[in-house]
Amino acid sequence: MQYDVVVIGSGPGGYVAAIRCGQLGLKTAIIEKYSTLGGTCLNVGCIPSKALLDSSEHYHNANKHFAEHGINLSNLKVDLKQMIKRKNGVVEQTTGGITFLMKKNKVTTYQGVGSFVDKNTIKITKDDKTTEEITTKNVIIATGSKPASLPFITIDKKRIITSTEALNLTEVPKHLVLIGGGVIGLELGSVYARLGAKVTVIEYLDSIIPTMDKGLGKELQKSLKNLGFEFLLSHKVTGASVKGKTVTVTAEDTKGNPVKVEGDYCLVAVGRTAYTEGLNLDAVGIKLEERGKKVPVNEHLETPVAGIYAIGDVIRGAMLAHKAEEEGVYVAELIAGQKPHINYNLIPGVVYTWPEVASVGATEEQLKNDGIKYKAGSFPFKASGRARASMDTEGFVKVLADAGTDEILGVHMIGPRVADMIAEAVVGMEYRASAEDIARICHAHPTFTESFKEAALAATGNRAIHI
Ligand code: FAD
Ligand code: NAD
Repeated sequence: MQYDVVVIGSGPGGYVAAIRCGQLGLKTAIIEKYSTLGGTCLNVGCIPSKALLDSSEHYHNANKHFAEHGINLSNLKVDLKQMIKRKNGVVEQTTGGITFLMKKNKVTTYQGVGSFVDKNTIKITKDDKTTEEITTKNVIIATGSKPASLPFITIDKKRIITSTEALNLTEVPKHLVLIGGGVIGLELGSVYARLGAKVTVIEYLDSIIPTMDKGLGKELQKSLKNLGFEFLLSHKVTGASVKGKTVTVTAEDTKGNPVKVEGDYCLVAVGRTAYTEGLNLDAVGIKLEERGKKVPVNEHLETPVAGIYAIGDVIRGAMLAHKAEEEGVYVAELIAGQKPHINYNLIPGVVYTWPEVASVGATEEQLKNDGIKYKAGSFPFKASGRARASMDTEGFVKVLADAGTDEILGVHMIGPRVADMIAEAVVGMEYRASAEDIARICHAHPTFTESFKEAALAATGNRAIHI
């Protein structure tokens, strides 16, 4: 079979690329080694983690906050089996939706491992080891990533686990030890903390979510402490071992003093690594980048071999589903002869804890490092009527604007529903809005979004109305 485009990998990068190729009239195939489409994000990432975050948040609210709302419950219990079953149902529905979209867009789906025979020939090896070859003018590598570990830790997938196993536990841990205070650790740690686990975070750097604006990590740490998290920051993990049902994690503080933490589960969440196993890149002469072992691409997401492109987690940049999706559309349109564009500065980052955390553009630390003069305006949710009504008063919105031109350079939020609120900042910044522009736009009352307007007012010279 001869195709215009063969996509290897069906995560949000690959399946979106395939749909866009189909829409553009390109004869397209997608190869996925697993039996369901959707990749990490739909099967063991974004979607199942958000399903569990929502369920556990309902329980937490019922347990801790309903009484204050005047709703009294008795015999409240967690049915983890049902929670996981519902999560699996959400995953099934979502991955099934991708199968439908492939058919709708006339994309042929192959199940098996895709590997290069040469730049125009891809071999598909099925589970039963039978093979089939297809030929193509273009290939999009979208093989994603897998959990990283530490060289001295063996992940037994029972007690020392990755995010994949953490999404399918059969009991609520008594004490979950998290290695890594990044996005995965804090999201999945929140799920189990809300369900009653003690959670200890051991983080190498001096703050949690260390790549985001420092103010956000500090604020989130306060909220998570209230939820029962403990933090060992600036601690280097040195080992983890299992004996019976006990996991012992060892670490060192900055002075080299040893620390030992015992729990019943340990989640290793120290990042993810690009996944290229089985692709047989040697056949086409593509050498992985030294740092991160990622597939090298130029500014058009083309590898050193013409006609072979790569997108998503397997290449440089943020490991985010929406980044992969943008790149999928970009490459499809490029192959179809269009001139697409991605603004990498405006890819938002979101952490789905409660309060949620969301960010776009430059952090205060980056602006300081780059010597850019800026003004900052903040607005706390405790001053928002909407937030008081829903008892979600933790957090703030911070707007950073150029000191001279007033152009918004960065927006950092922690609070209720900021995962959705950040979209307004992205739109504004895409159109190069000034803080004054946002300050003069009418926001419905009472909404959480008013806090963005108030922060913009604060950034333009202390004009916030409600503080
Ligand atoms: P992937 O989704 O990893 O898909 C790659 C696919 O390629 C896989 O299905 C794999 O089986 C397949 N494959 C690999 N090699 C081959 C081969 N040789 N032949 C055939 N198939 C192959 N991001 C967000 O933006 N928001 C979130 O809320 C979020 N939450 C997350 C929560 C967790 C627990 C995790 C682990 C990740 C989360 N992410 C989130 C990150 C997000 O999942 C990834 O950034 C995204 O899935 C990357 O998409 P991708 O298409 O590049 O690769
Ligand atoms: P991460 O990079 O977000 O966090 C890893 C953390 O582990 C960092 O804070 C790092 O300093 C720390 N660390 C590294 N080595 C350590 C050590 N030896 N001891 C202690 N701490 C150590 O990675 P993650 O949380 O594993 O997530 C992986 C990827 O998945 C991320 O790139 C993220 O973008 C993506 N993801 C995104 C979302 C979302 O968008 N909401 C959710 C989950 C995952």
